[in-house]
Amino acid sequence: MPSTNFDIIVIGAGHAGLEAALAGARMGLEVGLFTFDKTKVAQMSCNPAIGGVAKGQLAREVDALGGAMGLIIDRAMIHFRMLNRSKGPAVQSPRAQADRAHYAKFAGEVVEATPGLTLIEGEVAHLELDKDPTAESGYRVVGIGLKDGREFGCRAAILTTGTFLKGLMHEGERKSVGGRVGDQSSEHLSDSIARIGLRMGRLKTGTPPRLHRETIHWDELEIQESEPLTYKFSYWQSEGYSPLIKEGLPCHITYTTDKTHEVIANNFHRSPLFSGEIQGVGPRYCPSIEDKVKRFSDKPRHQIFLEPDGLDVVEVYPNGVSTSLPAEVQIAFLRTVPGLEEVEMVRPGYAVEYDYVDPTQLLPTLSIKSTPNLFLAGQINGTSGYEEAAGQGLIAGVNAALWLQGRDPFILGRDEAYIGVLVDDLVTRGATEPYRMFTSRAEYRLLLRQDNADLRLTPRAAEIGLVGRIHGDRLKGLLGEIDGETQRLHSTRISPSKRVREKVESVSRGEFKKPSSLSEVLERSGINYAHLQEIELEARRNGDEALPTQTLVHPRVAEQVEISVKYRGYLDRQIRQIHEQKRLESQAIPINLDYLTLEGMRNEARQKLSLVRPLTLGQASRVEGVSPADIAVLMAFVKRFERNGAHPSQASGNDLKQ
Ligand SMILES: Cc1cc2nc3c(=O)[nH]c(=O)nc-3n(C[C@H](O)[C@H](O)[C@H](O)COP(=O)(O)OP(=O)(O)OC[C@H]3O[C@@H](n4cnc5c(N)ncnc54)[C@H](O)[C@@H]3O)c2cc1C
Repeated sequence: MPSTNFDIIVIGAGHAGLEAALAGARMGLEVGLFTFDKTKVAQMSCNPAIGGVAKGQLAREVDALGGAMGLIIDRAMIHFRMLNRSKGPAVQSPRAQADRAHYAKFAGEVVEATPGLTLIEGEVAHLELDKDPTAESGYRVVGIGLKDGREFGCRAAILTTGTFLKGLMHEGERKSVGGRVGDQSSEHLSDSIARIGLRMGRLKTGTPPRLHRETIHWDELEIQESEPLTYKFSYWQSEGYSPLIKEGLPCHITYTTDKTHEVIANNFHRSPLFSGEIQGVGPRYCPSIEDKVKRFSDKPRHQIFLEPDGLDVVEVYPNGVSTSLPAEVQIAFLRTVPGLEEVEMVRPGYAVEYDYVDPTQLLPTLSIKSTPNLFLAGQINGTSGYEEAAGQGLIAGVNAALWLQGRDPFILGRDEAYIGVLVDDLVTRGATEPYRMFTSRAEYRLLLRQDNADLRLTPRAAEIGLVGRIHGDRLKGLLGEIDGETQRLHSTRISPSKRVREKVESVSRGEFKKPSSLSEVLERSGINYAHLQEIELEARRNGDEALPTQTLVHPRVAEQVEISVKYRGYLDRQIRQIHEQKRLESQAIPINLDYLTLEGMRNEARQKLSLVRPLTLGQASRVEGVSPADIAVLMAFVKRFERNGAHPSQASGNDLKQ
């Protein structure tokens, strides 16, 4: 008999588990969060950094939806940079280095302060399954059993076990069981998952050695200073909090040499990656150093960032040299790198292999199609990265709550959020190698910027109770102000009087000769919103009294108006593309459609669609191996099916023949 019953049980308190549990509790449900070690909530297994290209956008979206990641990194950051600052706003991404220990400490404090959330330490050994004839798998989850014999009941469960399912670590020829160094592995849970009949696979990821700070020749290295620690990942939760330190710590840069590559190449045979010991597929975009040396043999050197692992620790994180070579080879190649001639390792790098679940078996709510009260989020779905895990955790948590409350699911579109792109990619295309987010994965990335994440998402989150209504209303107010100011700029015209012309031409290229709207002036290259205010002032001084009174706008209004005016052409084009895509997205496909009986469709497409079982024509069009011609067949079927007024659950390709 279970000792306690929860509404939702979350297994794993990593980045996905934390956000899933918080979302469930914020939606008013009783949540039990289970983990191996209470002191390691949201532990950063690898690089202690949040954000980066596309990941910064994800972190901002998690915050906009009420998640904790933004607040925690704002408190724990010790180094900050806005990446791609010189490029357009669509690809600018914040990245902060954290003090690893404080990050986990602050995450623990968030859990403690959340009503309805209970953190419990222990190894979950199995899922308690009951027969359920209404579920396709024949089962539903009713609780969990811990290795120490304790039992807990639940109405829904969320699995967020990261790299721990049958985790096996490799360091050269040495193998040890564990999900990450210093932690055990989860050996039994995979069997429960297999009982439900889910397809599983094996992936791998790796981490670099940690170096001893006092054994590095810092003077010889290039410095990369931190920007001021004033950026906030959380625009609303971090009020009243400040980072651990006033000024950011610097990072340093060095490079591998010919000698480094020679040492590594001489030891390829000792790498479990090449000897066949590692079977799991690793991330192609984030290869280990031995992989880089082998695959890019023409490249004379590879960059290494030496990043602080924390404030009061000796560990330094050498970003770029993840490896699973034997420890003695690691130290040998490191000492061929300028600045590291006498370096000592605090601990060697390693690779870890683990079980994951093919995510095409999930709905966009992240619940399992065949077992609706079981949800999966994070690395278990084939992703890699803290931000990817957090985004999924939030979606799983809120949808588990909505499902229990009998309410509509919360699904974000590809046009609404990077999180929407992430979930859609996973459930539609699956993951055959660890999936991480890139800006190039988002077709509407100009709309999905880090600077407008809360404007895009918080009002929606407030509607379902994921964030407080007051906060949602504040954002709606801001949206109204942005709209109002944009309209004002479109409708207000100024004349090119002498002083106005001089002012405009002093900050932008080309002559200014015709009366123009303020938005046309702002569109000119070189002119920003602050210039525009000065130009307006000049126009008023010169007797353009017809100008409506200029009001002081919030800096965020100015920022958003400037972007929307300057990029209007591109933004309008993306909005038109979204409308086009929406037509396909609104065409539902019967969920139980028997694709194998669809005539006129290629076999590959039939099989892929049978596996994924997309919900809409839009989703079907993104399934790998499905061509536009296959979609035309499917579209014809859906139209005919709708005309016949048949019940969706009865659908089969034979309906086409009627
Ligand atoms: C060696 C290594 C290298 C990595 N390298 C990178 C990298 O270079 N870049 C990158 O972006 N990401 C990297 N990652 C991945 C990053 O750490 C993960 O993507 C991220 O932490 C995933 O979050 P998660 O919540 O899914 O899982 P995790 O953060 O791994 O959390 C899993 C949680 O589940 C708990 N758990 C597991 N099984 C059980 C059980 N049976 N009972 C109770 N609790 C359980 C664990 O205690 C833990 O709290 C690396 C990870 C590792 C281990």
